[in-house]
Amino acid sequence: MKYQTILIFGAPGSGKGTQGKALGLLPGFFHFACGDVFRSLDTTTDVGQAFLEYSSKGELVPDEITIRLWAGRIKQAVESRDFRPSLDYLVLDGIPRDVNQAALMKDEVDVRAVFHLTCPDREQLILRLKNRALKDNRFDDANEQVIRKRLETYEAESRPLLDYYDRSIIHTIDALQTPARVMLEILQVVTKLKR
Ligand code: ADP
Repeated sequence: MKYQTILIFGAPGSGKGTQGKALGLLPGFFHFACGDVFRSLDTTTDVGQAFLEYSSKGELVPDEITIRLWAGRIKQAVESRDFRPSLDYLVLDGIPRDVNQAALMKDEVDVRAVFHLTCPDREQLILRLKNRALKDNRFDDANEQVIRKRLETYEAESRPLLDYYDRSIIHTIDALQTPARVMLEILQVVTKLKR
């Protein structure tokens, strides 16, 4: 049985994490934030080292490493019953991040809805990321050059994912609205999904 999946998609700074976290608080939703999992790794391990190396340049961690980490963490969550695949939707934030990752995951996930948080104004995104750097301990947000590289990586590698999924499941949401408004739009779709 494939995991019934909701994908939160958008550029760095578009608010994926905020929405994913909020949705994950509701019973029936399990939130997986790929960046958070990478940041929680022991930096002396091989995967932790790979994360530091690539994220500090604004690049993606290689797909095989990322997908192996994802699969391992999901397995753990199923075993601990934090994620009950027969009851819960899997809310993915930050993964898949390119078409190859989506292909590697396709036998395990059934993507029911993709929420594309859009913000055409790049400078607004950069401002949000810089503010986040001040609050959280995010070295990849602190440097404007790395931020710009991440936005380029998003355009080149992540955005093409929007063509990978069927248009009928893609929901475009204006990321500059208040978080509550964005959540409302997500919930309007999610509450209509049938298992
Ligand atoms: P943002 O949404 O601001 O890009 P994330 O916390 O999602 O922040 O990711 C931070 C960094 O972690 C990325 O720039 C990338 O280097 C790495 N990363 C996160 N998710 C993935 C993924 N699915 N594949 C490859 N690298 C990833």
